[in-house]
Amino acid sequence: MKTIGVLAIQGAVDEHVRMIESAGALAKKVKHADDLAGLDGLILPGGESTTMRKIMKHYHLMEPIQAFAKEGKAIFGTCAGLVLLSKETQSGEESLGLLDAVSVRNGFGRQKESFEADLSVDVFGPTPFEAIFIRAPYLVSATSDVTILATVDEKIVAARQANILVTAFHPELTDDNRWMRYFLEKIV
Ligand code: GLN
Repeated sequence: MKTIGVLAIQGAVDEHVRMIESAGALAKKVKHADDLAGLDGLILPGGESTTMRKIMKHYHLMEPIQAFAKEGKAIFGTCAGLVLLSKETQSGEESLGLLDAVSVRNGFGRQKESFEADLSVDVFGPTPFEAIFIRAPYLVSATSDVTILATVDEKIVAARQANILVTAFHPELTDDNRWMRYFLEKIV
């Protein structure tokens, strides 16, 4: 059985644990670098990327997570997790730099702080994915190594590069575990 860690600093940690288990894998909360040992993959949940970055630095988690990815282990970042994984943020914040793309925090603006959208996702076939966006970021540009998996108003909201998967929305807040299954079956 695959074991997937969830960075348990902030955000929708228990919801990710539930989704991992519903997709048939074991979940483990990650608070310290030592907790990464033995994991097959890692989830960086949503939350507040500024706070998450501060705590990750405080607990010396940035380099161990980068090393985890360099070993080829899979990482799935949702919302703030997308911001933390992207190589650059448009507002210039430091990041893990593991996805060759530029993110825009709170990219949908105040008018659209939270919304739902039916996404068409080629890798899932014809049934749309009902995505929940909460002060969501998006990717404004990405290199050709990055595969775009879904867009909203031409903004990139889901993408993959080798062992890194990101969504700007919160799949863990729905009962539809297709993103988790995709992560487990195709990436981990
Ligand atoms: N706006 C948040 C940030 O940039 C992300 C919001 C979320 O994760 N729901 O950190």
